[in-house]
Order: sequence, then structure tokens, then C-alpha cells
Amino acid sequence: MLLAKITEQVEKLALRTNPQYAITLLGKMPPSVMASLQRRRFRETLKIANRTPFYSKQFRRRNIDIRKISHPAELGDFFTTSDDLKVYGAEAFLAGRPDTVFETTGTTSAVPKHIYFSNSELNQMGRMSALGLYQLGLRREDRVLSAFDVSFWVSPAVVRTAFQYLGCFHAEAGKISPLEFYERAVIYKPTVIFGEPSWLVRLTEIAEKRGIWPVKFIFAGGENIAEDTRSEVERVWNAPFHLNYGQTESFGVIGVECAEHDGYHRNDMNFFFETPESNEDGEGELVYTTLTRNVMPLIRYRSTDVTRMVDERCKCGLFAKRIAKIRGRVDEMIVCGMGNISPWVFAELMNGVPNATDEWQVRIWHENRRDVVDIRVEASGLNVPGVHQKLIDDIRQNMRMRFPDFQKNLDMRLYELRITGVERGSLRTGRKLRRLIALDAPPRETEYADRDALAQDIELVIG
Ligand SMILES: [Zn+2]
Repeated sequence: MLLAKITEQVEKLALRTNPQYAITLLGKMPPSVMASLQRRRFRETLKIANRTPFYSKQFRRRNIDIRKISHPAELGDFFTTSDDLKVYGAEAFLAGRPDTVFETTGTTSAVPKHIYFSNSELNQMGRMSALGLYQLGLRREDRVLSAFDVSFWVSPAVVRTAFQYLGCFHAEAGKISPLEFYERAVIYKPTVIFGEPSWLVRLTEIAEKRGIWPVKFIFAGGENIAEDTRSEVERVWNAPFHLNYGQTESFGVIGVECAEHDGYHRNDMNFFFETPESNEDGEGELVYTTLTRNVMPLIRYRSTDVTRMVDERCKCGLFAKRIAKIRGRVDEMIVCGMGNISPWVFAELMNGVPNATDEWQVRIWHENRRDVVDIRVEASGLNVPGVHQKLIDDIRQNMRMRFPDFQKNLDMRLYELRITGVERGSLRTGRKLRRLIALDAPPRETEYADRDALAQDIELVIG
């Protein structure tokens, strides 16, 4: 206990010093000391959580005596889910007075989740992020230009705080069109660029045509990127492309890549990570418990992301252990150039479109450096001239009216949208129709992949 207390003081001290010294100091911490620090913080967090309406009720109902719990696994099958946040409301999770809030949209509905924080929590996450960015080479003399979307998104606030600790020059462009960003960035010639992966790919296409300037690295968050696309971006800029992994619920930073690009260095100081339901390869849903949050602590929060814990030391030499690259999502949400998409989005796109049925399927793949979102919907009357085109027009119209954010990404050409009406009864092969399918490569069959080809087929049949 005393050792843990000393460690905590060392950590506090380390984070106040310059990043290089902090990394060295924290790197000297033996694993046993880290483990005892985590347990101490975990017990403290349980006490804080027990003050919230949600956790006190849950613990009581399950006869959990928190005084007897010293490891998250001892909570058995108790977890917190994103549904809990929606059903009970964020207020049921509050243990202290918040200073700020961020939002994140759900995977199964349009209702956003609200996650509250204090300014001191923001500062703490900012300091940890500063260490990660320093390790990647960000220094005081750098000029950062960020295109992170500032609207209710946690990441811009966290990196802004990190920049203060690093003392570098920075400006926030917001998520403006990549072309506008390019034209305005030329003046500042940023040495480091922040943005979402699909947006950065578009910026890179423009830069390839119009010219680059010297860049130290590119930093992305908010979604994943295919490795061949990453290499392409790196080739054009002649600079590394690093990814951050996080969630709004976790206050952004769960882990950050190092130059090795072999998983994310995890933030064990602020989280207790587990993969309690892992398979024989050790892969399972990442579950985390916050260790330093007083406003809205989360106990065993299901991230819905599938990964593996990596405890071997990384080639880069950084003290922090890792989680492997994210394998996929437990639920059906897919993150791509369109945004965070879930089945409900497409149900809403099809809603009210004459001739469209409830039988539809969406396939997503990567082709020519861009995500393709391919909607196939079973429709009636396709042999009548004009019906197929009207089907496509109506769905596109619904997109413009109902999902301005997805339309915005389409206008910026962050992804390609294909819509095809198909014959009744052609999609369902099993009992259940899989709504969203992420493909590793473009589909080989040409049957309905190309709507122009289909339109020609229809014309042939009619004419
Ligand atoms: Zn590393």
C-alpha cells in the first residue's frame, strides 16, 4: 500500500516534468508496482462508483460487497454496456460535478450517449496523450494543424490539452473539406497533421496532385485504416502515419501506436483492461474500468471492440504494454469513410421509398483508396422503365434530408455510394439476412455490383 502511494507520487511528479524525463521515470516502474497501483486505484474507483445511482443499485441487487473486491474479474458477469448509458441516462452514472460533456452516437440507434468529465480529468488525459505524442516525435518547434471534428467530439479537446504540455504551435481547422484545408494549410505549412483516416486519404490525393510540404508525421483517430492505404498516404507525404485508438467513453486515449505500428500502447495508468471472454488465441471483447475518473467512473465497460492483450515488450522500448490491432466489432457497427454506420441507418434510408422492400443488404469494401458502400435492396416493378432510377434517387434524397453528416462525407468523396435495386427473393440465402457485411476485398461477382450494368440489363429486357 505504501509502495503504491509512493508510486502515485512518482507518477504525479513524472507528469509534471518534461515528457522525456516522465517517459524514463515511468519506464523504471517495475510491473509489480504498476499492478499494485492499479489495484489501489480500482478499489478507490469502486467506492466512488458506489455513490452513483446506477452502480449502487446494481451492486446491491447482485449482493456485491465492494469492500471484498480487489480485481475487476471478481465482479463475475457484471459489466457496464453502452445500452446501460442510454437506458439509465448518463446522470445515473454521475459521482461528481462535471465541467464538460462529449457525445457519441450509438450503434443500434440514433440516440447519442452523453459522457461527462471534469477539467482536471481532461488535464490528466491530456498529459498522458502528450507523452504518447512526444514518443512519436512531436516537439515544441512543431506546427500542428488539426482537422478533427470539434462538434461534441472528445479527441480535439484531449489533443488540445496535450499540445499545451508540449508547447507546440497549433491551430484547429475543424472538419472542413480536404481541398479547403489544403489551400489554407499551405500558408502554415504544418509539420504534423491531425485528422480522421478517410479524410486524410482524400487530403493526400489532393496533395499528390498539387504538391506536398515537409511533414514529420500524420496522426489519425476516429476510425481504422487499411494497411495498404496507410502505406499509400505515407508514400505520398514521405512521412509516417500513426493511429490512435480510443472511445468517447474512455475520454479518447485507450492506446496509441508507436513507430513500430504493431498494436496500440495501452494506458494502464488510467485504465484496467481485460478481455474476459477471450478465445483460445486470447482474442475477445476489450473491457475496461476507469481508474482515475471521479465524475463518471465506468466499471467493466464493454468496448464492443475485439482485440488481444500484448504484454511482451515492444521493439520501440516504451514501458507501456499493448493491445493488438482491433480485429472488428462485437456488434454490427462498421466504421468507414461514410462514418459510424449501423443497420438502423440504412433502414431509415429505405423508409418511405416506394417499391423498396425491407429486404436489403449493405456491403462495404475498400477499392481505389476509398471505401465503397454498396446498398442492394430488393424492389418490385424493376422491369418498369424509370423505376430503378427513381429508387436510387429516392434513397439518395433520404440521405440528404436525414443524414447530413453522411452526405457531407459523400460530398467530400470520403467514400463512394452505390445503390442497386435487385429482384425480390435474391438476397436472403439463410434464415437471417445479414444487414452489414465488411469485405476484405472488392466482391468478385459482377451480378449486381454495377448498377449501370444492371440498368443496361433492364433496358435489354425491356427494349
Ligand atoms: Zn512500441
